[in-house]
Amino acid sequence: MTDRFDEARRDVCAYGRRLADEGLTTGTGGNLSARVDDRLVVSPSGVPYGEMSPSDVPVVTLAGDRVGDGREPSVELDVHLAVCRARDDVGGVVHTHSPYATTFASLREPIPAVHYLVAAAGGPVPVAPYARFGTTDLAANVVETLGSPRDACLLANHGVVAVGDSLADAFETAVAVEYCARIAHQAAAIGDPVELDADQLADLRDALDAYRDQG
Ligand code: 13P
Ligand code: ZN
Repeated sequence: MTDRFDEARRDVCAYGRRLADEGLTTGTGGNLSARVDDRLVVSPSGVPYGEMSPSDVPVVTLAGDRVGDGREPSVELDVHLAVCRARDDVGGVVHTHSPYATTFASLREPIPAVHYLVAAAGGPVPVAPYARFGTTDLAANVVETLGSPRDACLLANHGVVAVGDSLADAFETAVAVEYCARIAHQAAAIGDPVELDADQLADLRDALDAYRDQG
């Protein structure tokens, strides 16, 4: 496989370590993928992030067929594939179990737009209906909920899915979702948070895209 696949496999390991180090998951929970052409480079199932090396990382076609070496793909492969098949704009997908966002997911309540960074997700973060982890039903629910349109959604009683142009972009959105969930929780704990309206969110989305493009 070409250098671009090697680079994507290294990225999956590096962002996987950040997922663990930055407290966005526990244990081997969560998973991530990067699209390279018409293939998906996805984290292996059940491998501790600290021990994951590029040669462990499998590559699959968008039809889900394995290409080359690597370990067994994540049990959420269908989520990653279904999102990439449904949205041409998606180049990376990150699934976390980050604690504040997952608290909202367990209440089955969207994360409200009380901090401007929620614009990274496209607005309040909606909840995909419950389906068991590792199922095609979960993948279908995620695709439908991200069609809102959003770049992140909560998985009822489970966690978060964030998408982006690239794996780096999806990761940044997953971090923003967790931060916004924490601020929403803290604000509600001591007062009545003020929500941003639709016009403010649309304006923020453009401003945030321009801000990110500088980097
Ligand atoms: P994998 O280790 O198979 O990626 O599963 C972790 C997970 O978060 C399931 O939802
Ligand atoms: Zn999970």
